[in-house]
Amino acid sequence: MGKPTGFLEYTQKHICYRRPEVRSSDFNEFVLPLTEDERREQGARCMDCGVPFCQSNYGCPLGNLIPEWNDLIFQGKTKEAWIRLMKTNTFPEFTGRVCPAPCEGACVLGKEDQPVTIKDNERWITDMAYEQGWIGPVPVSKRTGKTVAIVGSGPAGLAAADQLNKAGHSVTVFERADRPGGLLMYGIPNMKLDKKLVERRLEIMKKEGVVFRTSAEVGTDIPAKKLCEDFDAVLLATGSTRPRDLPVPGRELKGIHFALDFLVPNTQYILDGQQAGYINTEKENVIVIGGGDTGNDCIGTSIRQGCSSVQNFELLPKPPAERDSSMPWPQFPRLYKSDYGHEEALAVSGRDPREYGILTKEFVGDANGAVKGVRTVRVGWKKNTEGRFVMEEIPGTEEFFEADRVFLALGFLGPEERILAELGVETDTRSNIKAEEFSYRTGVDKVFAAGDARRGQSLVVRAIAEGKGAAREIDCFLMGKTRLP
Ligand SMILES: Cc1cc2nc3c(=O)[nH]c(=O)nc-3n(C[C@H](O)[C@H](O)[C@H](O)COP(=O)(O)OP(=O)(O)OC[C@H]3O[C@@H](n4cnc5c(N)ncnc54)[C@H](O)[C@@H]3O)c2cc1C
Ligand code: SF4
Repeated sequence: MGKPTGFLEYTQKHICYRRPEVRSSDFNEFVLPLTEDERREQGARCMDCGVPFCQSNYGCPLGNLIPEWNDLIFQGKTKEAWIRLMKTNTFPEFTGRVCPAPCEGACVLGKEDQPVTIKDNERWITDMAYEQGWIGPVPVSKRTGKTVAIVGSGPAGLAAADQLNKAGHSVTVFERADRPGGLLMYGIPNMKLDKKLVERRLEIMKKEGVVFRTSAEVGTDIPAKKLCEDFDAVLLATGSTRPRDLPVPGRELKGIHFALDFLVPNTQYILDGQQAGYINTEKENVIVIGGGDTGNDCIGTSIRQGCSSVQNFELLPKPPAERDSSMPWPQFPRLYKSDYGHEEALAVSGRDPREYGILTKEFVGDANGAVKGVRTVRVGWKKNTEGRFVMEEIPGTEEFFEADRVFLALGFLGPEERILAELGVETDTRSNIKAEEFSYRTGVDKVFAAGDARRGQSLVVRAIAEGKGAAREIDCFLMGKTRLP
């Protein structure tokens, strides 16, 4: 640790965002970086703990060498910090932008003070690495003659492709969308993760030898069994793509959509001006049902399109502002926080869009079969005799909210079944692909699984960790040993 008193001298300072009322009129990224001196101070806040919980199981799923690169930032040795970061994280330009940072939730300094700004530090190192030209294609010197097919090009598929290619195998990634990237490309909106950054990484991977076959749906365009015949190993990284529905009366009305049916065409419109499937919420009253990240992305996107109003319904109660006994340190704290979309809604309309403890009972339509509002009731949560929380409707709290457009952001139920049925791959009790953690093997010879398809809806950082883990196992399966990290 270069600066033993750094955590006493410097207060936490996050990167700033452009003002909500300004940034909400465009789809560009909204972060304003700190100066180099300010960043070094933030690096100096790290205490180089004897037991660095930030990189433990509670913290970073990739085991990033956080105290080491924090110290190198403080010392002004950014290139060395980059080299340390690359040892564990395949795509820090993505996690440095979109990760909810479980590492910061586990940071020891966070017990008494504000945690170290680990995520911002990671982003700074990576942006600097690209700016300085420290990162670029590294040609693979020796090929093994083994071939691997990867189905799905989200962070899990990409991380596996990157590692297996580096190990010398010939990797082909099959993606049904017109561009690779999975939810990094079509899902997470441009203002949170600029698609040019995804393209930049894909270009590097292509130059290093990874082959991408887009607009190629395995199970329809290409039989899954053919992949098993043509390749030495197959990795299923197809994500968790079945959205949870809300089967209440009126669900069939026009104007009610799953979140991704809104977010994906919006990104296609930004990238290509493509109109197909584009949903325009300009001058509309929007209700987003579901209070997670996806719901927030629908709020931010609706505001940018110029909606008249936006409201956000969440069934669960409002989370606490401070840690309580249900989430002791170093567990990830699920606290009440305002994300970018909430801030923007507040700035443009003067009110926070979130309503907690509210249940949708019915969608109400007009004479043309289009949604015109949502009937709701307030709910409370109480512990039953077995200690489990149960929901109770509160009599007399029925309400009606006007809406021209409703987005359902209620999570995902697992991978699609077609390809699994064709290959005879089993699913587990949560309808995810059955493959043990750390082995990633399905019950079918030479077929592996990783990412949200295996572990259920999760995070980019976990998908990268899964992709890397699966790559190790596949390398071992093909070569009898592995040196992959
Ligand atoms: C709107 C939204 C916002 C999110 N925001 C965040 C965030 O801010 N931070 C965060 O950490 N996580 C976020 N997540 C979660 C994160 O994006 C996922 O956990 C992660 O992308 C999962 O990676 P994956 O590689 O397993 O799958 P995915 O990224 O879902 O990729 C799977 C890919 O497989 C392709 N595919 C599926 N079936 C086939 C087939 N048969 N043939 C060919 N291709 C196929 C799909 O088209 C897709 O491209 C968000 C999720 C959503 C929906
Ligand atoms: S837990 Fe926090 S203070 Fe300790 S080493 Fe990790 S980042 Fe530094």
